[in-house]
Amino acid sequence: MVIDLRSDTVTRPTPAMQEAMWSAPVGDDVFGDDPSVLALEEKAAQLFGTEAALFCASGTMTNQLAIRVHTQPGSDVICDKLSHIYLYEGGGIMLNSLSSVKLLDGDRGRLTAEQIAEAISPENDIHSTLTRLVSLENTMNKGGGCYYDFDELLDIRALCTERNIPLHLDGARLFNALAETGETPAQHGQLFDSLSICLSKGLGCPVGSLLLGTTDFIAKARRFRKSMGGGWRQAGFLAAAGSYALDHHVFRLKEDHQRAKTIGSILREIPEIEYIYPIDTNIVIFQLPVDQLATSYVRKLDMLRIKAVPFGKHLVRMVTHLDFTDDHLTELQARLRKV
Ligand SMILES: *Cc1c(COP(=O)(O)O)cnc(C)c1O
Repeated sequence: MVIDLRSDTVTRPTPAMQEAMWSAPVGDDVFGDDPSVLALEEKAAQLFGTEAALFCASGTMTNQLAIRVHTQPGSDVICDKLSHIYLYEGGGIMLNSLSSVKLLDGDRGRLTAEQIAEAISPENDIHSTLTRLVSLENTMNKGGGCYYDFDELLDIRALCTERNIPLHLDGARLFNALAETGETPAQHGQLFDSLSICLSKGLGCPVGSLLLGTTDFIAKARRFRKSMGGGWRQAGFLAAAGSYALDHHVFRLKEDHQRAKTIGSILREIPEIEYIYPIDTNIVIFQLPVDQLATSYVRKLDMLRIKAVPFGKHLVRMVTHLDFTDDHLTELQARLRKV
C-alpha cells in the first residue's frame, strides 16, 4: 500500500459520506434553491455565529473572494510572508483585487498586534498603498500547523476595530486548532469580519470550502463568485458531504494530531534528519542537512511508497488525515527504518 502524507486533502469520502452525498436532495445553486447547499450554509453560519455563509469550490476561492470584497484597487493586505494567500494562490491578490501585500515576519507565521500596528499604511500619504485588510492564518501551514493564542487574536481584533480595518481568517485548518485549544467555532466567528474554512482537508470532504461573514459581505462575495465562474448547479451533492463532515468528522481530529506526534518520534530516530518543527496539530515539517535536497529525499521516500512533499529547499512536509490509520503508522515506521 501507498502511504500518502502529501496533504490532508488526499482523503476519499467514507462509505457513510458517500451515502449522505447520493441521497442528498439537490436543486440549482445559481438559482439559490439547492436545499443541501442552503442547509450547509445555514448550519455553518449557526456554528460560527455569523449572519451568512457561502459554499465554494476551494479555499483559494473563499480567500480570494474575501480579499476582493474587502479591498479596492491600490490597497494593501497585511499578512505573514509565509501565508497561503500570498504564496499559494497564484498571485490572486494582484490578479483579482489589483492590490498589494505588506509581508510581515511572524513567529512561525503568527503575527502580533504590535507588528500589525506598525505595518498599517498611513491614510494621508499619497506615496503609500492603503491598508484595507489584515489576514491571519490559523493553523499556520508553513509554520508547521501551529495555532494562535486566543489573547493575541483578541488584541489583533481590538487593533483592527480601532483602526477600522477588516480582519480576515484563512481558517483552512481552524478546526485542527480548535481541537487543541477547546475554543468554539463561535468564539472565532465573533473575532473576524470574514472566515474561510476548508471542508476538503482534515474534515475529509472531496471538495469544498465555506466563506463566512455578514449578509451584506456574503451577497457581494456571491456576485464575485459568479463572475469567476464559481456558480455551481447541483452542488448539493458536495454540500451534503460538508454537512456530514461537520457532524461526524470534527471530533476525531485529535487522532490525526496524535499520529503526527508519533511520526515525529519515529523521525527523531533517523540520524540524517536535522530538525523537526514542534508538532502542534496534524502537520509534520522536518529539515535535512544543507547537503541534502528535499526533492531528492522525497524521491527516496517515494521508492518506499511513502508520499510527502518538498516544503522548501531542505524542508519536507507530511500531513496526517482521516485515511491515515494506526496500521499505516506501523507500516510507516517499518518503511522509514529502511530510508
Ligand atoms: C489548503 C489551504 C487553502 C486552500 O486551498 P485550496 O486547495 O484552494 O482549497 C488555504 N489556506 C491554507 C492555509 C491551506 O492550507
